[in-house]
Amino acid sequence: MQSDYDAIVIGAGVGGANAAAELATAGWRCLVIEAGAYHSRQDYPRGELDGNTRLFWHGGMELNRSASIAMLRARVVGGGSIVNQALLDEFDDVALDDWRERTGFAWLDQAGMAPWYARARGALQIQTVPLVHANRNAQLFKQGFEQCGYQCAPLQRGQSGCRHEEGNDCIECLYGCRLDSKQSTPLTSLQAALKAGAKLLTQCEVERVSEAPGRVTVQARLADGRPQTFRAGQMVLAAGTLGSNTVLLRSGYAAQLPRLGQGYYCHPQFMYFAQYREPVLAHKGPFQAYKSDDAGFRRQGFKLENVFSPPIGTALLLPGMGAAHQADMAAMRHYACIEVAVRDSHPGRLSLGQGGRLQIDKELDAEDQRRAAAGYQAVQRIFEATGAERVLPGRFGIGLHLMGGLGFARRPEEGCVGEDYRLFGSRRIQVADASLFPSAPGINPSLTIMALARRLGRQMAEAA
Ligand SMILES: Cc1cc2nc3c(=O)[nH]c(=O)nc-3n(C[C@H](O)[C@H](O)[C@H](O)COP(=O)(O)OP(=O)(O)OC[C@H]3O[C@@H](n4cnc5c(N)ncnc54)[C@H](O)[C@@H]3O)c2cc1C
Repeated sequence: MQSDYDAIVIGAGVGGANAAAELATAGWRCLVIEAGAYHSRQDYPRGELDGNTRLFWHGGMELNRSASIAMLRARVVGGGSIVNQALLDEFDDVALDDWRERTGFAWLDQAGMAPWYARARGALQIQTVPLVHANRNAQLFKQGFEQCGYQCAPLQRGQSGCRHEEGNDCIECLYGCRLDSKQSTPLTSLQAALKAGAKLLTQCEVERVSEAPGRVTVQARLADGRPQTFRAGQMVLAAGTLGSNTVLLRSGYAAQLPRLGQGYYCHPQFMYFAQYREPVLAHKGPFQAYKSDDAGFRRQGFKLENVFSPPIGTALLLPGMGAAHQADMAAMRHYACIEVAVRDSHPGRLSLGQGGRLQIDKELDAEDQRRAAAGYQAVQRIFEATGAERVLPGRFGIGLHLMGGLGFARRPEEGCVGEDYRLFGSRRIQVADASLFPSAPGINPSLTIMALARRLGRQMAEAA
């Protein structure tokens, strides 16, 4: 493993696996280094507690400095694709126009992205969540939208057959899909990369990277504490937004990149539970089936999704303490749930605090609070229209779409990565994950991360 490679890809998540697939199939000798362990359908953790500790960084969540938003990021081969809801959407003109305006990159439009979306889609199966199996939580969502005059649409998901007709409940696939239906990267792009000869080193955390004429050097540590050093001609940094920013901050890149860690977004999400007289059984059947598809919501900077959370997550989110909290948990089978996801306009900042630990400064400013409040108002109307007895707001925000910190830009005063995906001032380090995002799109990011990573991989292979 210590020998030379054409490229080292850091992180076997959504972006890293897609970049590695392009490079390896073009004949590059690739090493993919991943901090997490490899799991398969045979040994995904059963149960939420085990899942949080084995599949996520820091036991499940990392808080912003005011402890008002909990960020979740996976630490496992496959990254977010193992634990996410696999909802796959292309960006609309609103998101791409904003990116093009900020960066000046002419290809950031529907036509420029179309071949890369097609390439990303080509490596996966995508299905509309079958509405015939939509559970009562989803039905209430749709009914509420119709009664309030809002538009909603069925969800597109990376899945190949969730066997709902056999009574499968897919809430558990948040901790890895034991049916191998969810199109996670170990079943798709990463598998293609490994078949083409890429090597995968698991449970190895990259600590520092550096660049010298002719090569990059990666210093890492195995789970048993042994240090490792690797060299390659090129490096693709794809450790996810928090991971890639941490590696570069620890490696001293702040001097070269004045904007390092700035421009951090997370689509803050707020979950609202509503209690109904009849059982809702939101944990049964397909986890989600509908999303908002409402031009008015898009203009106001939020979207709604029909969603739920497993018991530990719900217990953390529900307000109240002691006996009152226990009584609320006992009513869980009667809860529906809707999530407001804010398209955050106010960026946060990632930096290193005491002992080199990542520090996340991320708050909602007045505008983002207005967006969240507008979303809550819509949720209240939907719950009211469908006969909810009471609404219980989740008591903190959640960040699942972690983006930015190494944003695409024209020049170093505006971001960290140029049009060729290279860090400004670097010849050999390129970025292929969500940290490239120059702003929050307000749309599920995975498909676009895949498309951007495919584009980078192809360009590197062609340039060589
Ligand atoms: C619960 C949940 C639900 C979600 N649902 C959706 C959804 O439905 N649709 C959608 O589009 N998005 C969803 N997301 C977000 C989506 O999963 C992420 O945006 C996406 O995975 C980010 O891709 P990435 O390549 O940037 O990073 P990741 O996929 O997170 O991959 C980064 C990888 O790098 C590894 N790594 C980090 N640091 C190091 C290091 N120092 N050394 C070695 N390896 C390292 C990590 O362990 C990880 O495996 C969800 C996320 C969560 C947590």
